[in-house]
Amino acid sequence: MTRSLLELRNVDKIYGRGAGLFGSGRGGTYAVEGVSLSVRPGETLALVGESGCGKSTTARLALRLIETSGGEVLFDSKDVTRARGATLRSLRERMQMVFQDPFASLDPRMSVRQIIAEPLQVHRVKGDHRARVDELMALVGLRPDHAGRFAHEFSGGQRQRIGIARALALNPELLICDEPVSALDVSIQAQVINLMLDLRARLGLSYLFISHDLSVVRHIADRVAVMHLGRMIESGTKARIFSAPMHPYTRTMLSAVPQPDPGRRKPAVRIPATSGAIPGREGCLYRDRCPLASARCASERPQPRSVAEGHLVACHHAEEQAPFVLGQGGAVLTPGAQRRFELYVRKRAERSPA
Ligand code: ADP
Repeated sequence: MTRSLLELRNVDKIYGRGAGLFGSGRGGTYAVEGVSLSVRPGETLALVGESGCGKSTTARLALRLIETSGGEVLFDSKDVTRARGATLRSLRERMQMVFQDPFASLDPRMSVRQIIAEPLQVHRVKGDHRARVDELMALVGLRPDHAGRFAHEFSGGQRQRIGIARALALNPELLICDEPVSALDVSIQAQVINLMLDLRARLGLSYLFISHDLSVVRHIADRVAVMHLGRMIESGTKARIFSAPMHPYTRTMLSAVPQPDPGRRKPAVRIPATSGAIPGREGCLYRDRCPLASARCASERPQPRSVAEGHLVACHHAEEQAPFVLGQGGAVLTPGAQRRFELYVRKRAERSPA
């Protein structure tokens, strides 16, 4: 089996619990529930899903910026959730975060040199920090002679390059990137993504890449993990997820991505509006929106199961829609296939009413 650099095993994060004695208070909400994932050396795992599904929380748990409510986080087989002192510091050096807005939490009076050098100071790295900052700036395509400038003097794309340089200062093995290009114009997005691909190849980096933008994910990911309401519902290689998605939610999500070919732009399947209320955590959390939902989906939580090599799906009925779905281009149902599928679902409901 391939070694994992980062591994999450059945990780939970519950917010708002613990009001009672011994953390037994009720009323907590799951931001993340039973999430397992792994990032292997040199690969990019993209974490996708609509806003609020728990992607950022997962990233923060991996870095232990917040504590887990259950489960394990391992980095290079070492337990991050229990690490302390020097061990935790060393683990944190080896995985770094790239944020959507790298300057939100930084002092605007700091020069770029200070911003990039700060992790070197915090971690008391020996050596010539000035030379290291120059080297990092050149590495991300910035002019080292601009190091004395302030962040606001740079464009959005350049600012993200500064954020990446800062994240690379300690020579990490893994970058956890939380929507790193979402705030940028599309043309600039491509430049930053290309930089990230180039850095990955040159430095042997791995990425956990969080994005709600599937066209970005298509460009950068090796594998894709799909989250829905705090749970991991599907994961597999990029090719599998984009061309043979199995979970009805993944299919719906993919079919709503604008197609590059204008003739195919209209989505064949619409995402129904998410109802305001999150249903109870029993059963499948997608069942209210799912054409395949059955009585079993209300009572039994679907666990991720293997449907092909390296392809996991948490759905009791994943195989049933497959015969109706076009292979190429992913999840899209042609209008004819959509009608046949609806007929199939109606007949199935008549056979076994929920
Ligand atoms: P995403 O990154 O996919 O948009 P998040 O991980 O930010 O999702 O959020 C997942 C869920 O957890 C959301 O319902 C969000 O409201 C909730 N959440 C996030 N942070 C907190 C917090 N500090 N306290 C309470 N709830 C939170």
